Parts: sequence; structure tokens; C-alpha cells
Amino acid sequence: MPIGNNIPYAIELLNSNKLVAIPTETVYGLAANAFNENAVLNIYKTKNRPQFNPLIIHSNRIERFEEWGLLIPADVKLLAQHFWPGPITFIIPANHKIPEIVTAGTGAVAIRVPNHPITLDLLAKLNFPLAAPSANPSGFISPTSALHVEQQLGNKIDYILDGGNCKVGVESTIISFLENEPKILRFGGLAIEAIEAVLNKKLATGSNNNKIVAPGMLSKHYAPVHPLQIVENLSESIQLFDKNRVGVISFSESFAEVPIAHQFVLSKTKDLNEAASNLFAAMRHVDELDLDIILSEKFPNIGLGYAINDRLKRASIQEN
Ligand code: AMP
Ligand code: MG
Repeated sequence: MPIGNNIPYAIELLNSNKLVAIPTETVYGLAANAFNENAVLNIYKTKNRPQFNPLIIHSNRIERFEEWGLLIPADVKLLAQHFWPGPITFIIPANHKIPEIVTAGTGAVAIRVPNHPITLDLLAKLNFPLAAPSANPSGFISPTSALHVEQQLGNKIDYILDGGNCKVGVESTIISFLENEPKILRFGGLAIEAIEAVLNKKLATGSNNNKIVAPGMLSKHYAPVHPLQIVENLSESIQLFDKNRVGVISFSESFAEVPIAHQFVLSKTKDLNEAASNLFAAMRHVDELDLDIILSEKFPNIGLGYAINDRLKRASIQEN
């Protein structure tokens, strides 16, 4: 039985350097012992992930990262006090304990304490952090339920710990602390405004400008199989297509001329947190309908709207 809630079994597998899919509040992760190079290599192989794209390591408390010798900057401690366990990841200098395969040779490591009771319990019982990227084949839509993981990777991993649907539903916000000023590397499940309020300053957006991302290589991501287009005005754009062959991902509105089963309203009450939590499941379901085109709109650039727009944009990029 590959899916269940058997924590002792998950521990046994992880202690023998096997892969286990784990629930978090953001998306499901594909986890392995971060201190074991072979176990981590297996993550890259299973996801078909390029090895220049480093992994986040997870544990249950900030003190454990310190016990493993990592030096945590004061601002990271402050933010962790406010937001951990939670959907924010910090990039800090790595040390010799963290294998290069985890950091992609950048000398920096990404750390997070995820907010999910099952995974916190699991992490507390392990003597090592878990390296865990999202539990999907590289480039495809991230999983927000155990079933999604089973559909995409079920035959390749030993066990999926089932923790229900992910409450946040988009990946963590990533902030780098490698330079004098903290920089946003990825919009995600924690609103930038909340982070800025704690630090009492505006954050700049940085690029992953070290070795990680060869220009453009990772821009297409979170991708459905069918083409997705972001439009200014859904109701006008719908008119340009065969209305029976169009899928719609909208914030709050639905459209009488499109079959209701082809429409995915992310939040009737215009709640961006709710919209984010429904986004990936909507992208999956609309893709399964096998339509000609998926249309979506721009979300407001506030709170989790940044993360939603980022994921939609990457999903819309056409490979040529
Ligand atoms: P995923 O776990 O699939 O959401 O991907 C992890 C993200 O964290 C990727 O976008 C990586 O580029 C980023 N990341 C992980 N480690 C580092 C690092 N050492 N420096 C910069 N970015 C990182
Ligand atoms: Mg991912």
C-alpha cells in the first residue's frame, strides 16, 4: 500500500535512505535524508530534475539547523519567530555538512520548517533534515494532495504519507540572506507585505543569479499539457474561441456561455488565500478535460496574488 499515515514506516524508509512523499501546508514534497548523497541523487532522478536546481532542507525547529552547524542571521531568526512553522524559506550560507548535491554547489542552503502536524512529528523523530522539492516530475504542476502524487510518481516511490489537501497550496516564499539586503527569490505562500512589516523595510526582488538557473531554463514550470493563456479580459477573450472547447480559470466570476464543468472559479468571495489553495488542483482538472485552450486572468498584485500570477505566467510559457 503506497499511501497511508504510517509515520514509523516512513521513518524506517527515510533511515534507509529511501524516498517518501510528505505533506506540507504548501505542496507535497519528495523527501530524502539531506545528509546522504545517494538518497538526494535519487530525488533528482525520480523527478527528472536538473542537478543545477538546488533543494530546500526541512526540519522541525530552527535550533536543529543550528545544531547542524548552520549560522542563522538575526533577521532570519526574527522572521522565523513570526512565521515558522510556515510557508517561508531562507537562503543562508551552507556548511560542510550539507552535501553539494543539495546546494547545487552554490555554497548556500535553503532552510524551512513546514507547518503540517504529520510532517513536524516525522521531522522531530529523524536525526537529519529532509531535502524535499515538490513531489512532481520537474516542470509539471505541483501536487496538493496525496492522490496527485500517486498519479504522477506513484510507481517510482516507496511511500506517500497522506496529510490531506495542502492548506496554502502554492510553494513557499523564498528570501535570500546572502547579501547585505534580503532579496525575494520566489513569490509564494507567505505574503511579502507580512515579511516587510516584520523587517520594517521594503524588499527587493533578486534573481537566482548564481549557478542555479541558466537563463530561461526554468522559466516554463507548473505546466499543464494544454496551452494556457493569461488574458486581460476573460469575457472578451472567450468570444474568440469555440466556447465548448475553452477552459477557464477565473478569480470569482463565471461565464454563462462556457459549460460550467469547464470553469474553475478559485474564490467566489475574492479571497486570494483561498484562490492560491485551489490553483494547482484547478490547473490539473482543467487540463484533464482535454480542451483546446485554457484561459486565465491576471490576479491582483497584492498578498498571494503575486504567487498566483507567477505560477500562471510560468504555466503559460510555450516551448518552441
Ligand atoms: P521546489 O522545492 O521544487 O519548490 O524548488 C526549490 C526552490 O528553492 C527552487 O526554486 C530553487 O532554485 C530554490 N533554492 C533551493 N536552494 C537554493 C539555494 N541554495 N540558493 C538559491 N535558491 C535555492
Ligand atoms: Mg517544484
